[in-house]
Amino acid sequence: MSLIVQKYGGTSVGTVERIQAVAARVEQARAAGHQLVVVVSAMSGETDRLLNLARALNNPPPARELDALLSTGEQVTIGLLAMALEARGVPAVSFTGAQIPIVTDSAFNKARILEIDGTRVSAALAAGRVVVVAGFQGVDAGGSITTLGRGGSDTTAVALAAALKADECQIYTDVDGVYTTDPRIVPEARRLERITYEEMLEMASLGAKVLQIRSVEFASKYQVTLRVLSSFGDGPGTLITTEENIMEAALISGVTLNRDEAKITFLGLPDRPGVASTILGPVADANIEVDMIVQNSGADGSADFTFTVHRNEYDKALTICQATNGEMQARAVQGDKRIVKVSIVGVGMRSHAGIASRMFRVLAAEGVNIQMISTSEIKISVVIDEKYGELAVRILHSEFGLARDE
Ligand code: ADP
Ligand code: ASP
Ligand code: MG
Repeated sequence: MSLIVQKYGGTSVGTVERIQAVAARVEQARAAGHQLVVVVSAMSGETDRLLNLARALNNPPPARELDALLSTGEQVTIGLLAMALEARGVPAVSFTGAQIPIVTDSAFNKARILEIDGTRVSAALAAGRVVVVAGFQGVDAGGSITTLGRGGSDTTAVALAAALKADECQIYTDVDGVYTTDPRIVPEARRLERITYEEMLEMASLGAKVLQIRSVEFASKYQVTLRVLSSFGDGPGTLITTEENIMEAALISGVTLNRDEAKITFLGLPDRPGVASTILGPVADANIEVDMIVQNSGADGSADFTFTVHRNEYDKALTICQATNGEMQARAVQGDKRIVKVSIVGVGMRSHAGIASRMFRVLAAEGVNIQMISTSEIKISVVIDEKYGELAVRILHSEFGLARDE
């Protein structure tokens, strides 16, 4: 008998009918002889609805209380799914994150899982039940409810699969796999049969929200067999696996668009040691993550320094930088929220030269100006004006031959 962890996202449990469809799928897998742990998200739109209620009362909402509120979305779904299963004669039991317990640190709104005690889940499985677990949440050492960041139910599922040594973790969503790019932007995007953990990690980090970044990190670290599938139909989905399991590496596996960043620029800084640390020190102290960084020294002895942060933290970061500039004496500190980051990802890049120049050439041919560039072994990212974001994705998707064969 194999143990499977299944996860159903918001759209997949968005209505009573959808929950019934999930129950039917779970019943089928159980009838095939599997033990099942089912992780669910809140019904679609629910997390946003709760977030808006919170903001209407206290903006920004107190972090601890926000988690107490947001975790209720998933608690609704576990109750409903367990009832739907029982109604079909499938013995089921629901657990919140705290009931398991899934222990996290105390970083409310973006907590990290520290430990999962599998005892309760294993006992329920041994008693023949389907175990239904609330995604996206945990409990800290002090007993406070925490949440894992948007999209966090994916991470709950993969972490549980790792802790329980499950045979497979299946992420059911509203697309039938991981695509070469977001199919909402490029309808010709193609489903990938397989993708490496490494590529998936880059794609998730660079804006492909089909899986939360942390979930891919967990999967890679604990070698969890991970599959993304549709809850609306049947099909093999996409297997996320090690490079050895992929016969022929594609040159480029995917193109991503990230609309969540904003940039801050110091113009005309004195070009001397310590500038970068003076600027970024206070930003780090405020717990703001910095993504791309570019510094240029001009011939006149001055330097320009640009970096990007998450858009949610842009206002806070800009205020900090304006304060820092009191001592820095840059000519100006400017910010720009109207940017996006477009990236191409592929392990095939390691063994092929000239990918970057090809990327820059096709963007230039369409008049897209590149503001920043960053690269790693398997990805190239550019920051451009947000109005060219989707265009750039389409151009690159076609340039690297990623579209479906018609
Ligand atoms: P869930 O609610 O099931 O967690 P999400 O909305 O979080 O679903 O993730 C699925 C969505 O991710 C898809 O509807 C799709 O628009 C988007 N997406 C972005 N990039 C990709 C990609 N490369 N492949 C597949 N889906 C993608
Ligand atoms: N309900 C949470 C969200 O909307 C977690 C998840 O769906 O994975 O972000
Ligand atoms: Mg999701």
